[in-house]
Amino acid sequence: MHPKHKVSDNNLVIEARDIRVQLGGLEVLRGVDLKVPAGELVALIGPNGSGKTTLLRALLGLQKITAGEIKLFGASNLRTVLPRVGYVPQKLNLERSFILSVREFLALRLHKTRNWFWQSRRKTDSLISETFAEIGVEALLDRPVAQLSGGQLQRVMIAFSLLGKPELLLLDEPTAGVDTPGELSFYDLIAEIQRRHHLTVILVSHDLSMVYRHASWVYALNGVICCEGSPEHVMNAESLKQAYGIHVSPYHHDHSHVH
Ligand code: ADP
Repeated sequence: MHPKHKVSDNNLVIEARDIRVQLGGLEVLRGVDLKVPAGELVALIGPNGSGKTTLLRALLGLQKITAGEIKLFGASNLRTVLPRVGYVPQKLNLERSFILSVREFLALRLHKTRNWFWQSRRKTDSLISETFAEIGVEALLDRPVAQLSGGQLQRVMIAFSLLGKPELLLLDEPTAGVDTPGELSFYDLIAEIQRRHHLTVILVSHDLSMVYRHASWVYALNGVICCEGSPEHVMNAESLKQAYGIHVSPYHHDHSHVH
């Protein structure tokens, strides 16, 4: 057991038992168990089509499960705890005609919070600027959201989630390899945000070198959890072979990826 992964039932942020999901006649999740304690950066890896997005959506109550049980922060009524959760989906399909600037888009997030009515314009602006300085994308504030690159949009979406002051952040396969020189890499940024805000993070990732560097626990999914454990444990070729159905020799150098 990884020393940082102390599972006691009273600090579990996510507890999922035997989750099953059927999509189009196919059983996409076939009995998935997860236990995620507070403060972990958990990586969810697995080949395309292995159910990673479906699992995140099930955790958010966006995907109906056919069996099993999900608790977030100890509550089975997910709706009541969703305000404590931030979600950054894999991609947003924005119409080109979506005309809001990044600043206006983020202001919407603040206006959804329950105190919007007494927040002055100045307060809104300063909250947004603070969060943006942290993510390092101040230069994007006045750009139209619909014109951002995939990587820029992911960062804006992270800022958007952070404005909701989440305790749990679910990130679906953020775009890799889009970092601008001088910026923190996307994954370093996530790790720093996680530490600074004491977040629990589930990160869907294909970037095994990042998983190796930053995750405190790894789940390898292929309809079921094929293996879980510390990165050192899961990254051994035998367990990855089970998860991906192919042979890989991961993590020996910094830029290894599974394609
Ligand atoms: P991953 O995120 O690991 O790539 P997904 O959770 O997106 O996997 O998809 C898991 C499986 O479910 C895939 O085989 C996919 O084709 C299928 N699937 C996803 N969404 C639907 C849907 N709405 N209807 C039918 N099948 C779906």
